[in-house]
Amino acid sequence: MRTGIPLEEAQTLLLDLIPPAKECQVTLDNAVGRVLSQDIQTTINLPPFDKSPLDGYALQAKDTKDASISNPAILNVVEEVRAGYVPEKQVISGTAIKVMTGAPLPKGADVIIKFEDVNRTGNKVELFYPLKPGCNIIRAGEDVCRGEVIAQKGTVLTPPLVGLLAGIGVTAIPVVSKVKVAILSTGDEVIDPAEELTPGKIYNSNLHSLGAYCSQLGAAPLTIGIVPDEEAAIVERITQALELADLVITTGGVSVGDYDIVPAALKKIGADIVFWKVDMKPGSPVIAARYNNKLIIGLSGNPAAAFITFDLIVVPLIKKMMGFENKLPLKFSAILGDDFNKASDQRRFLRAKVQKLNDINYVKLTGEQSNGVLKSMVACNVLIDVPAGSGPLQAGQEVAAVMVGGSDLLL
Ligand code: AMP
Ligand code: MG
Repeated sequence: MRTGIPLEEAQTLLLDLIPPAKECQVTLDNAVGRVLSQDIQTTINLPPFDKSPLDGYALQAKDTKDASISNPAILNVVEEVRAGYVPEKQVISGTAIKVMTGAPLPKGADVIIKFEDVNRTGNKVELFYPLKPGCNIIRAGEDVCRGEVIAQKGTVLTPPLVGLLAGIGVTAIPVVSKVKVAILSTGDEVIDPAEELTPGKIYNSNLHSLGAYCSQLGAAPLTIGIVPDEEAAIVERITQALELADLVITTGGVSVGDYDIVPAALKKIGADIVFWKVDMKPGSPVIAARYNNKLIIGLSGNPAAAFITFDLIVVPLIKKMMGFENKLPLKFSAILGDDFNKASDQRRFLRAKVQKLNDINYVKLTGEQSNGVLKSMVACNVLIDVPAGSGPLQAGQEVAAVMVGGSDLLL
């Protein structure tokens, strides 16, 4: 078992062990937010035919060559075509076909003129100026052309993309299967927020913050509930969770106190411990184990520590299982907006918010940085990565940062 390893090593070890994305199909109504598991190539043109963008007359441009106010071109209107119907006749010289918006361009016509620009009397239409061939025609394939790859594997389905798939007649959409993440909280003191708060107890925030994060990512959280600090109970619930989910997350009970029994429970199950403890603050006691090709990640119970380690260690795994190309948090450099007065013996991640001013990224701390404080996570969209052995930090100095909280999901 590895212990006290660098974060990057923990990330790589687990990314190598996590199985790749699985595939399924969804309908158009269920597609938004899902990730494409295959490239989508269109087998039709969109629009499928040359068509009229307006209500008007389709004709041959050469018939209008000498048209003027005093010498209008006069054409015989031989047919009227509504959107959704196909012209029966062809346009030949001296004739025009009335077309509505969306109607197919009649054969023989090479231009369309709008109603407002002509005079119609009986079956005759008068035109007062010469037209250029090709004007006012929407060409087949103007939007997408037959054979074109309209979206690539790994793309998140957005509302316009769902519309485009509908537009090319794709109704069974190949997507990555929803990743099922089981979350269970350990701790004798932890109770459900719906219960009455009694002395010594604390409401379970981890289950809900991490469950909400899974939902935001497009994964399916399975809330396994709260388990007391008893080895047998933890063994039973983790075993249950392993049957239901692709990935199991626990919170609490991973330090070295008398009742920190998640590591012992994992060994009891027969799981291989991949590592225990990562060289970072907060959240260092994180433990990772593998059983039957599935990973179990035990996070600290402290709400901010649990959230930050989830962000840096668990989210990349979910992203891999969801088929995302970029799994690791995006790194960038920024200018620190505030002083941070503590020295950092160990590598430390500080909660902050990034703001761009005159093309420079500034990161401002979002509040109290202790392990248990969740309030400063609320406005946090980046973590400042402070190397081990740093002294106090001063506003204005350059720092390294990573994007978190799902803020890089659509980048
Ligand atoms: P532990 O990791 O079990 O040592 O817990 C660390 C701290 O986090 C303790 O103060 C716990 O009471 C608190 N804690 C543990 N689990 C939760 C939870 N699910 N929600 C909120 N606080 C928790
Ligand atoms: Mg505990």
